[in-house]
Amino acid sequence: MKSIKIATFGSHTALQILKGAKDEGFKTIAICEKGRTAPYKMFNVADEIIEIPSFGDYEKYEHLLIEKNAVFIPHGSFVSYYSLDKIKKSKVMYYGCKNILKWESDRNLERQWLQKAGLKLPMVFESSEDIDRPVIVKEHGAKGGSGYFLAQDKKDFEEKIKTKKIGKYQIQEFVVGAPVYIHYFYSPLDGKLEIMSMDKRYESNADSLGRINTNDQVALNINTSYTVVGNFPIVVRESLLHELIEMGENVVKASRKIEEPKGTWGPFCLETILTDKLEFYVFEISARIVAGTNPFIDGSPYSYLNYDVPMSTGRRIAREIKNAVNSNRLNEIVE
Ligand code: ATP
Repeated sequence: MKSIKIATFGSHTALQILKGAKDEGFKTIAICEKGRTAPYKMFNVADEIIEIPSFGDYEKYEHLLIEKNAVFIPHGSFVSYYSLDKIKKSKVMYYGCKNILKWESDRNLERQWLQKAGLKLPMVFESSEDIDRPVIVKEHGAKGGSGYFLAQDKKDFEEKIKTKKIGKYQIQEFVVGAPVYIHYFYSPLDGKLEIMSMDKRYESNADSLGRINTNDQVALNINTSYTVVGNFPIVVRESLLHELIEMGENVVKASRKIEEPKGTWGPFCLETILTDKLEFYVFEISARIVAGTNPFIDGSPYSYLNYDVPMSTGRRIAREIKNAVNSNRLNEIVE
């Protein structure tokens, strides 16, 4: 325990990962881009800060983490900087299943995984000819929904697509309902699944259009955009938990079929729209810690039920590593 350190990129969910690691008794390392250390100094979560010119240069500095016996915790900023090939080549102890990233980063593979888990997904239209309802058009690799647009029908789609400079995209049924993002944690050490917390995103300008009356919305010709600016906590109706638990368990089981034999472990998130018929449509999965866990640095109503200390997802990861070290099973959860 004493020799192992916890390291992550200074961004995304690093505050809770590092704070959680310290609370569990680890020394911590933040790898920061030059000049972007302020939050990690202000909140005093890092025992050591390694400044590098850009996250893209991380490979050159990896050896420092190996020398320091660090376990690296991946999060959204890491996954967006590093291709699967590079992640696979990396020799630093990495928390999580590397191969599962392939399944979450490709829209078609992601769909296969979620379908194998028996989840309800929005329809996908392979050709614009087939559009028969409102759709959301998603550019591949769009960050925070910024490259998305909505179309009411086929005609509207065809008019709008002409005016856009977008690369590859997917046309998805637009599901009307409330977004709910469920943060799970699966431990292969004891075979248990936990719901850690839930959030909805605060998005610009989707969440601010209600502040302008309809006439002004039309006059200003605003296109709905979904750039994430923050996150709100959610607690769902208790009767919905049965289904959410089953959905999470099915995702873990399906992951063992696509990435045999171990499947995925650690944190993952299902991004859903809950309709007025109380049906969950899952439009995305993230197989790692998500930024929606950030409102819960001191725990959530759900983690409060399971733990007698404030348990963020970041701290849960550190607890898992501690449990693995203490039972000599670290090799089962790092790659
Ligand atoms: P990230 O990869 O960070 O999760 P993203 O760029 O892939 O973000 P999404 O989270 O997929 O973006 O979607 C952005 C917004 O679009 C979300 O608020 C979500 O509610 C909405 N959205 C996505 N898919 C659908 C859908 N099929 N029907 C209705 N709304 C949707």
